[in-house]
Amino acid sequence: MEINFHKVPLKKRFPLAISRGVKGDSYNLFLSYKKEGFTGWGEGAPGKSERATTVEEIQNQLTIFIETGIAALSPEKLNLRAKEMNISPCAYAAFDIAFWDWKAKKAGLPLHQLLKIPTPTVPTSLTLGIIPPEQVKDRITLLLEKTTAKALKVKLGAPEGIEADQEMFVKVLESTQKYNVKIRVDANGGWSTEAALFMMRWLADRGVDYIEQPLEEGQESELKYLYKNRPLPLYIDESCRFAEDVGKWADCIDGVNMKLMKCGGITEALQIIKNAKKYGLKTMIGCMSESSVSIAAAASLSGAIDQIDLDAHYNLAPDPSTGAQLVDGITLPDIKPGHGGTLKPEYYA
Ligand SMILES: [Mg+2]
Repeated sequence: MEINFHKVPLKKRFPLAISRGVKGDSYNLFLSYKKEGFTGWGEGAPGKSERATTVEEIQNQLTIFIETGIAALSPEKLNLRAKEMNISPCAYAAFDIAFWDWKAKKAGLPLHQLLKIPTPTVPTSLTLGIIPPEQVKDRITLLLEKTTAKALKVKLGAPEGIEADQEMFVKVLESTQKYNVKIRVDANGGWSTEAALFMMRWLADRGVDYIEQPLEEGQESELKYLYKNRPLPLYIDESCRFAEDVGKWADCIDGVNMKLMKCGGITEALQIIKNAKKYGLKTMIGCMSESSVSIAAAASLSGAIDQIDLDAHYNLAPDPSTGAQLVDGITLPDIKPGHGGTLKPEYYA
């Protein structure tokens, strides 16, 4: 077995602003797992809430993990060990994604087929970050004109307050009138309970189809006030990281948003899907600052998921990888053995 790491810059078309701050260009760590003539690809995106803020930290953690001896262990056993060792999920995801890619390539099957998951049919959201209202029209034209996009996820929870959110959102409604797109809102925990109660009603009146993470992570005991008489389905994202979190708030949410970087990869995401079913919850899959490698891996699961938000790679210029394209509004993994994603050779050769 041979494992190699590649540090690759991700350059964005537009920086992404959410309630907590702005994310611009960054580096991700790519991992290749070679064994028996097959190469699996994985990717890790550093993140503060994922407990590894640089690609160097990701590589150090994975090096320690790999040195424990990983040959001949199942993905489930390795995932458990990574958790016991407190390996950050965005680091472990790089390994787990590569391992599954390798397993599917060895089996000669697309990953979704190996996992007995159908090809995705639900269109992805494209994300509109927090921007000044006067820029909304041009940005929406850039996002939606001449694409097959069918849904827009609008980031609200602006630090300036809900008046700023409303001002931006009114522009979004005006600017999307000529496009046939669904609109959903992610507040990234930017609202108080009172603001969330008000905004959920206000957004429901304006045709929004769901709301995500209205309250800050740590404020989950307040969710019950939003859930009762809710005018919109209520999803959590930051408040649900791992499979064991799914049941914690199950009686006051409609669904959970999983991300490979947040949970630690495909093995844990499969467990989240299973737990969500057990509790009768809807599922969503999203992404961080990621290229086509980890997005293709997530897209390989998305046929088993209700809401899809796999779009970060469309905001890269250039995408250092191939493997997940927008086809009729759907983020589709390339249908070939593995998850479909590959780092372009110029980034590692
Ligand atoms: Mg979110």
